[in-house]
Amino acid sequence: MLSLKDAGTFHGHLGPYLTIGYMAGVFASEKLEQKTEFDLEAWVMVPGKTPYTCIVDGVQCSSKCTLGKGNIHVIDSPKFEIKFKNKKTGKEIRLRIKREVLETIDEYGEDMEGAVKWIRSKALQEIFEIVE
Ligand SMILES: [Zn+2]
Repeated sequence: MLSLKDAGTFHGHLGPYLTIGYMAGVFASEKLEQKTEFDLEAWVMVPGKTPYTCIVDGVQCSSKCTLGKGNIHVIDSPKFEIKFKNKKTGKEIRLRIKREVLETIDEYGEDMEGAVKWIRSKALQEIFEIVE
């Protein structure tokens, strides 16, 4: 798995939505006991525009669900939800970004570093509503 810093290099900047996607992928990889790069499939359901779609790159860098392998799907949706499935075990997990998190990121505006710092200071359960 790439480090968050490497994800920032891949993406071009280390922003809050990239960070959120990265964290979701780390959690899903552990929780769904990923063993190979082909185990997981991801559905990223966010509004189809930046900065929200930056989540997609974060998910790719930490979950090994990639556009190249076809095991990530980007769905234009107001849901702000990421779903992961382990195709071998059938287990699924959904992470829905909390409304207040989206609002706080908005308040940081151009201060990406500040927003990322704030996100990283939070427990995963404070960022996402997690449905197993
Ligand atoms: Zn971005």
